[in-house]
Amino acid sequence: MGSAIFKNPKYPVPKNEKERVKALKSYGVLDTQPEEDFDAITRLAARISHSPIALISLIDEARQWFKSKVGLEIQETPREISFCQYAIMQDDVYEVCDALKDPRFTENPLVTGKPDIRFYAGAPLIDEDGYHLGTLCVIDTEPKALSKEQKEIMQLLAKTTVDHLQLKKRNKELDASRNVLQKFFDLSLDFMCIANVQGYFLKISSAFTSVLGYAESELLGKPFLEFVHPEDIQITLTEIEKLAQGKLTIQFENRYRKADGNYIWLSWNTKPDTQTGILYATARNITEHKMAEDLFKKNTLLQKEKEIAERSSKLKEQFLANMSHEMRTPLNSIIGLSNLLLKKTDLKGKELEYLQSIQLNSKNLFGLVNNILDFAKIETSKFELEKIKFNLKEIVLDAVHAIKNTAEEKGLVLNSLIDERIPEEVVGDPARLIQALVNLLSNGIKYTLNGEVTISLEMVTVDAQSVMVKFIVADTGPGIPADKIDEIFHPFKQVNNSFTRSDGGTGLGLTITKKLVSLYGGEIKVHSIEGKGSMFYFTLIFPVAEQTISVNVKETFVDSSAIRGLTVLLVEDNPFNQMVAIDTLKDWNPSHDIDVAENGEVAIEKLKQKRYDLILMDIQMPIMDGHTAAQKIRNELPPPICNTPIIAMTAHASVNEIEGCFKDGMNDYITKPFDVKDLIGKIGRVLFHKAGSAS
Ligand code: ADP
Repeated sequence: MGSAIFKNPKYPVPKNEKERVKALKSYGVLDTQPEEDFDAITRLAARISHSPIALISLIDEARQWFKSKVGLEIQETPREISFCQYAIMQDDVYEVCDALKDPRFTENPLVTGKPDIRFYAGAPLIDEDGYHLGTLCVIDTEPKALSKEQKEIMQLLAKTTVDHLQLKKRNKELDASRNVLQKFFDLSLDFMCIANVQGYFLKISSAFTSVLGYAESELLGKPFLEFVHPEDIQITLTEIEKLAQGKLTIQFENRYRKADGNYIWLSWNTKPDTQTGILYATARNITEHKMAEDLFKKNTLLQKEKEIAERSSKLKEQFLANMSHEMRTPLNSIIGLSNLLLKKTDLKGKELEYLQSIQLNSKNLFGLVNNILDFAKIETSKFELEKIKFNLKEIVLDAVHAIKNTAEEKGLVLNSLIDERIPEEVVGDPARLIQALVNLLSNGIKYTLNGEVTISLEMVTVDAQSVMVKFIVADTGPGIPADKIDEIFHPFKQVNNSFTRSDGGTGLGLTITKKLVSLYGGEIKVHSIEGKGSMFYFTLIFPVAEQTISVNVKETFVDSSAIRGLTVLLVEDNPFNQMVAIDTLKDWNPSHDIDVAENGEVAIEKLKQKRYDLILMDIQMPIMDGHTAAQKIRNELPPPICNTPIIAMTAHASVNEIEGCFKDGMNDYITKPFDVKDLIGKIGRVLFHKAGSAS
């Protein structure tokens, strides 16, 4: 219908019709409810023009629609029968004084029928962009004309109507944009707030209440500094102070207290209104970021500390290995040579005493070196227990055996009482257990002048998986004063100096023993009565070794007389150690044929020339060390040379060092200065094992 009108030249259409209709629609007034503002205008228009009908008529593509009406029932009419379509074509008041005399309207149904229009006057509603939106018009059923003054008033009222329309439109736009802002404010995950110079929030976004967990009234009712972490109040004040000094924006971080008492980290961005001092601020919750940052910092620090600790531990380990070698090598020679000398010569009187003194003191010194090394290892936490199968009863007998001679020399009785119910095969570190037991037994012997020293093993509980054993070492010595008992486990603490001076103690034995026992998961305790004796005891749990895979240790012992004269390659750089090793082997069996190589390189050459039953390999040597030599023998020499058994001779029996020896393909290791029985046992075992594996 609308398009028919525009095409029909009979009806007037403004030049900018399309834009005009668009502009009209932008007011959002068409088809809305009546409003008093507009009705007041139409009432006034009817009154001043003495007309029964007054309308605010808005013209869209097809119709005239009445926003306000006086004296008329209908809400709209088709545009083509409207008088207003003519009125919007001009800028001033359009007047039809008698419709029956105007050929454009004589046939008009609004003239021929209801409401029987005879008179029409319409002032166009022209908005600020010049669009003619409609009219404010008055209608009468009698012909008449408006005075000039009435027309002027009509134009003024039309202008007021447009002002109202424009104001309402602007308000609507403002509301819409305010809604968008409010939504933005409400939906934002960031914190948004407006605060006054007195330090109170005036407005806060919902992130404040939802994240912090307070009601809005709680947050608005207190100065915001009350929620700031006490440590961050100063930085917050300092930053706000900067605004007072003219800074335009501030960025800083602080912690805010939540309702549950925890704090979150906020990163603030604040701008003041320079006139009112009111602060507009946004903040982002950076707690997770801060935590990640803290974790990263901590981890980096820990990693650095770990690296430093590992590096220094490695350096210490290296230093210990070197020290151990440097100190034990000459001691090894002294002890070995004095042993040989004692056996070979028929020294008597003072000379014999001197030699025995040399031997005793060098042994003490050796013990001291070992203790200091063990203690240092404990300090560097390099002390780890092995988990191998061993025979518990044999270990105890070995420990007793190790100090038997000393006890006999002092005329002391040495007892061992082992509960028969204790399973023989258990899992643990036999070497470290012996070390602990020998430490306690030798203390017992060292401090007891007469009487006896007893080691007892009592079974506490047992099941298929484990056994709990109580170890007790008791003596009839001087005892330890009650107030000194705690002290004796501290390094270098000796409660009776006169004893220790003559007995060459270091004050480290019990510290090491305590650590060994604790590595096993136990705790060493002491019960002592001065003048009567002391009793050291601890309880350990050992996993019981599975019977099916248990090995009878005794089977691995070899009768030394069964070993014929061996062809041995001794790889050792130190001439004194060479002498000790050769003489010890010859002392055991003079028919052993021993060749010496002063380093790994010479050893390999010799192995190419001659077959050997056994290689005794020192580890630290110039030109080519024992590790490299063993690897070359195993990997580069042809069979059967590459299968020659190798026993490492190490001055420093650390777990790493021993692991290294086995990794290089060596069959066993022995710590210098070696005990001849130990050496024979190990030689027997490697030869026996070799024969066993070959069969
Ligand atoms: P030391 O090398 O001096 O024996 P320990 O750490 O083994 O070092 O012992 C620390 C101190 O505890 C000893 O100096 C000694 O005074 C005291 N002590 C240890 N065992 C006994 C014991 N069985 N009887 C009396 N005193 C002992």
